[in-house]
Amino acid sequence: MVNNSPASHVDWSYSTARLYHKCPRQFYYQHRQREEKDTGYETQSSTAVQPPGARIGSVVHDCIAEKIEHWRNSSKRTLQDSQEAAAASLQQYVAENSDEIRDSHFTDEDEFDPDEFAQSLIQTAQSHIKTFFQVIWPQFNSHRYITHEITRSFSVDEHTVWVRPDFCTRSQEGDLVITDWKTGAVDRFSEPTLQVLTYALWAHREYEPDLDRILVQLVHTKHGEFDRTRPDRVDLDSIKNQIRTDREDWTTFQSMNDYQPDPETEKCKYCTFLDRCDAGQMCIDKGPD
Ligand code: SF4
Repeated sequence: MVNNSPASHVDWSYSTARLYHKCPRQFYYQHRQREEKDTGYETQSSTAVQPPGARIGSVVHDCIAEKIEHWRNSSKRTLQDSQEAAAASLQQYVAENSDEIRDSHFTDEDEFDPDEFAQSLIQTAQSHIKTFFQVIWPQFNSHRYITHEITRSFSVDEHTVWVRPDFCTRSQEGDLVITDWKTGAVDRFSEPTLQVLTYALWAHREYEPDLDRILVQLVHTKHGEFDRTRPDRVDLDSIKNQIRTDREDWTTFQSMNDYQPDPETEKCKYCTFLDRCDAGQMCIDKGPD
């Protein structure tokens, strides 16, 4: 039997589930996009320039991945190398997108100085990279490399689940350590527990049958803090149930009205689908929650 529900084809991943729980209607719009592109309807999100904060995060992630790649190959990557690479990448980003950045992030055109703006982004990125090299990286000194930045899938019942852990290592004490770099301020919609438990479930299936030896850590590159979790069996059962429940919704919900909007000013003002969402527009018009 053909399933006509709009999200029945969507595999489960932490980021997809996060979007669904943040706002089901936004999830619906996101997963209709491919069909709309085919019919010539494009939303802002398909053409929008990456916001400056997100670009800093991407650049810091890239510099960390590069450092790990060099470490894995026993070659050298200095703090200066990484900071120079970050500066070049951010300068290029501002030069290529200055009109869009000015229009989206500055109310007064005269206030926007591309060189000054690029320098402020570079300073922020270089500060994160310095914290990584001087505070965070020494804590991996005795670790053994397993993998980094690789996309993997596994199954829960008949459901495919995707993960992309930033870094996996084995510590000297024998723990399997899964690390996720956090470059931004704490996002109250990010559901870190969901992410941590998904990594733990994957690691338990693929690498480490002894759950007591799995450690998942979120590492904040701004100040170098480590949030560490050792999930237990109850945690893994809860994430498996979450995956089953979400997938059941996505295969049974038949229309847009099944995906209810969940408007909040902080979500809606950055939502790329605001132009077509009445609930979001009413929320913005009403003012702060
Ligand atoms: S504008 Fe708000 S309510 Fe509408 S889809 Fe986006 S986040 Fe959800």
